[in-house]
Amino acid sequence: MFDKILIANRGEIACRIIDTCRRMGVATVAVYSDADRAARHVAMADQAVHLGGPAPADSYLRGDAIIAAARSTGAQAIHPGYGFLSENPDFVEAVEAAGLVFIGPSARAIRAMGLKDAAKALMEEAGVPVVPGYHGADQDPDGLAQAADRIGYPVLIKAVAGGGGKGMRRVDDPADFAEALESARSEAQNAFGNAAVLIEKYVLQPRHIEVQVFGDGTRAVHLFERDCSLQRRHQKVIEEAPAPGMTEEMRRAMGDAAVRAAEAIGYSGAGTIEFIVDGSDGLRPDRFWFMEMNTRLQVEHPVTEAITGIDLVEWQLRVASGEPLPAAQQDLTIRGHAFEARLYAEDVPAGFLPATGRLAHLRFPDAARIETGVRAGDAISPWYDPMIAKVVTYGPTRAVALRALEQALVDTEVAGSVTNLDFLIALTRHDGFRAGQVDTGLIARDLDALVAAAAPDARAMALAVVGLAGLADPQMRGGMTLWQPLRRTIAWDGGQAVLEVLGPGAARVTLDGQPHEVRWQGDRWWVDGDLCRERIACHSAGVSIFGGHRVHLVPRDPLARAGADDGGDGLTRSPMPGLVKAVHVTQGQRVRAGERLAVLEAMKMEHSLTAGRDGIVAEVLAAAGDQVEAGAALIRLDEVSDD
Ligand code: ADP
Repeated sequence: MFDKILIANRGEIACRIIDTCRRMGVATVAVYSDADRAARHVAMADQAVHLGGPAPADSYLRGDAIIAAARSTGAQAIHPGYGFLSENPDFVEAVEAAGLVFIGPSARAIRAMGLKDAAKALMEEAGVPVVPGYHGADQDPDGLAQAADRIGYPVLIKAVAGGGGKGMRRVDDPADFAEALESARSEAQNAFGNAAVLIEKYVLQPRHIEVQVFGDGTRAVHLFERDCSLQRRHQKVIEEAPAPGMTEEMRRAMGDAAVRAAEAIGYSGAGTIEFIVDGSDGLRPDRFWFMEMNTRLQVEHPVTEAITGIDLVEWQLRVASGEPLPAAQQDLTIRGHAFEARLYAEDVPAGFLPATGRLAHLRFPDAARIETGVRAGDAISPWYDPMIAKVVTYGPTRAVALRALEQALVDTEVAGSVTNLDFLIALTRHDGFRAGQVDTGLIARDLDALVAAAAPDARAMALAVVGLAGLADPQMRGGMTLWQPLRRTIAWDGGQAVLEVLGPGAARVTLDGQPHEVRWQGDRWWVDGDLCRERIACHSAGVSIFGGHRVHLVPRDPLARAGADDGGDGLTRSPMPGLVKAVHVTQGQRVRAGERLAVLEAMKMEHSLTAGRDGIVAEVLAAAGDQVEAGAALIRLDEVSDD
């Protein structure tokens, strides 16, 4: 076993790897960018080496600097985590040329699976079912259109170099093919520098089921499947293992195919074979097809660990250090059911816009496994994926594990940034999901209901007002607020209430003309006579109520408020660093509140920037193709004069 390894990554996955290293007595070296000087993974590691600026190209993608850091610290191996350099065969070769071990597959195996067309051809040869379609070299538009006709509509155009759902277009009508092809090709050229595409049969009612494999370079085993059908725009939201409705026959067929795939390329380490499954008629062994292989540890690996009892990072270290596969296929079994939800700092009602902010308060329930790279007080920076944590639950049955997930999410306390918690909780309560009827279209079909904001609960609001008044503070709990008037107005961003102190441990809060009596004793709170299950948290960003109804109140600061929304100066600013993809307005144009002004590409996704109010475009300050910083002014609106 290695004495010391370097982790070429950040965030939750770096912390996750360090956890296993600690347990195994392997020393760890972290690397970090300027934005991550005080990050959790740096604090956890035994040593840390600074790489450079916050942009990934200046830090986590600098293979040369990472290899130099490993050598100077005496690390024997490099674990790449996921993302960044994890699937870069040139990096693997450079690591090996420096006399170090890459904890992952060979450069050759990564290359074999790097392009979707070559991978499909290879898998076909190995006897793995692939989605019917065309993945040949002919890229002539007419030839591709004929291929689409032969395959039969609907079809899916996919960039061969694709990832993250980019360069992918569904086409339902032959009349739309040429235009869809053109746009897929241009997106692929921009994103990957490779415009080549393949054409696939579009699978109706598709489920995304993937198989975890593990190889030693010759032989491979599989660790069963994960269902990742709950996706939004091809991005996974909640994953589970095993797949609901899986039969033993189908599992054996998928597992065998996955092992064949891994062995065909002499795979070493942890990998995932992603299959698309036609779920329109239950799960049937003749209705799954290879989509692609991810040659690394996957974000959602913890659900597999939960049902198999295996630590996949430990297996990675053992196999990379030369040990044989730690278990044979017949030793591997499934016990129970597990879920993982991806908790993000994102503004769901605003279209899942990635958010930033300092986590003024952060607390996770003990009952779930939490994988996180942040602590209370840490910032979610605009530079990286805005993931706060993965919340993983386990139970003897799917129903128990899903209830545990719902409860764990309800008990997760985050303040200081908006999050997708409400959305995740709504998903855990979705009837179809509860019944195990999952497919990749579920979220899109029910999006409106899933993102609908519930009106804030009046009693939870009353509790928050008491918190905002400072009465939840232990020192003031007696109600001895002598220097405060007994009756006062409490104002926050977006509202106000009247608070009257009634005596020690009692106050009346009048909200929208409705009085609520709040009483407290120790840590227990009653509103209108009912004991509350919610908790009050007072923090630097205001007051939050957790544990049932969630409420966040930010005290109103009259100075800071003066120029809220668009800054009062009519400027629409870029919420994060990114690339201006399109500007949809021109100078002099009249726009209505909510109308799309421009599209920004950031964090691998496109975001529409909309007008905060009606107005006239006074200035267009950015053009398509501009790289902009967070806060950069893009569009200036003038008031509409009503004459
Ligand atoms: P990427 O590498 O860009 O993530 P994938 O090939 O992994 O692309 O596909 C991403 C998602 O797109 C899948 O999880 C699935 O939801 C959907 N998808 C892919 N291929 C098909 C297909 N042939 N029919 C229907 N949906 C598909």
